[in-house]
Amino acid sequence: MIPTLYKSALHPREVRALLKLKIKGQQYAVPKKPLEELVPRLDDEAFCYAALSKVSRSFAVVIQQLPENLKNAVCVFYLVLRALDTIEDDMKFPKEEKVELLKNFHKKSYDENFTLKNTGDQEDYRALLEHYDKVIRFFKSLDAGYRDVIVDITEKMGNGMAHFIEKEVKSVDDYNLYCHYVAGLVGIGLSDLFSASGLEDPELKNRYELSNSMGLFLQKTNIIRDYHEDLSSDRSFWPEEIWGKYTRELSFFTENPKSSESLACLNEMVMDALGHVPDVVDYLSLLKNESVFRFAAIPQVMAIATLAAVYNNPRVFTGAVKIRKGLAARLILYDLSLEETLNYFRKYSRVLLRKPPTGTTEHQKLLQWSKALSKKINNVF
Ligand code: MG
Repeated sequence: MIPTLYKSALHPREVRALLKLKIKGQQYAVPKKPLEELVPRLDDEAFCYAALSKVSRSFAVVIQQLPENLKNAVCVFYLVLRALDTIEDDMKFPKEEKVELLKNFHKKSYDENFTLKNTGDQEDYRALLEHYDKVIRFFKSLDAGYRDVIVDITEKMGNGMAHFIEKEVKSVDDYNLYCHYVAGLVGIGLSDLFSASGLEDPELKNRYELSNSMGLFLQKTNIIRDYHEDLSSDRSFWPEEIWGKYTRELSFFTENPKSSESLACLNEMVMDALGHVPDVVDYLSLLKNESVFRFAAIPQVMAIATLAAVYNNPRVFTGAVKIRKGLAARLILYDLSLEETLNYFRKYSRVLLRKPPTGTTEHQKLLQWSKALSKKINNVF
């Protein structure tokens, strides 16, 4: 806690938010004990919320602030997709069985006997799958409209993940398709759930492209930030069509983090992700319910703050670049209007523009992007 406070020392509102979150944290406490140890004391619903706070960290707080009905649906949706991702990421899982399971995972949605042992690279993920029957029972208590959305997205995502178990991300099209499967579908599914809840326009679920961009922007940000971590686990989602312009081996960047090639490649990746921001602005402008808005907007603000931190930053290639926890605390605790959200977007576009350009064309692109963004934001009001 102390080092976190120190990092936010120049931002008094963040210090207040961090302390308040610590106090309010009792209300949304992340249980200290591992999930496995908590199981005997918890009914299905309580298990799902304990699992959620374990596997999604601070995001659980924002989910728990959603209106009751929708909250349960989003909680289950998150856990089902977390289970799929745990299977996808388990490198010890035999490949053929993994592909089969990913493709058929949606068929387990109503099977109260389904559990999976020894799957996942983290203790809490393993516990989630070992007691997955609890998630299934809670799922079955949801309204039919929510259940249909969850099964539909699970089927599409499972098939997409299976496709990429057998095929690497090479072209920019592959990259966009992979991100669509693992994140764009989350955005699309959430829009479906929002429409089904009656809290948002029934038409929101038809804003397929905008919903997809909401997911792609977050996923691409993570893929860029996680370059080093992913490469250490012997995988990468950076498309060769982009990095191949700068090097013959992706690991060149780790060995030469400050080289102009490394930084130019990183910046091209960031620029590609920033291309989704106009859709994000359009999507957020459509939302009507305050808590749905916060739930949708907070991760997007965190993402643009992350991109501003990684842009032109050689540390991406050698470790983890993290943004201050205080920003997350402040976003989670205080009301967040559309106007404030868009002010954050303006702020981080200025931060990006102040970074020293590695090339004139690159700076031009950033400048054009930023001008188009302010024009879009000005049109919202
Ligand atoms: Mg994964």
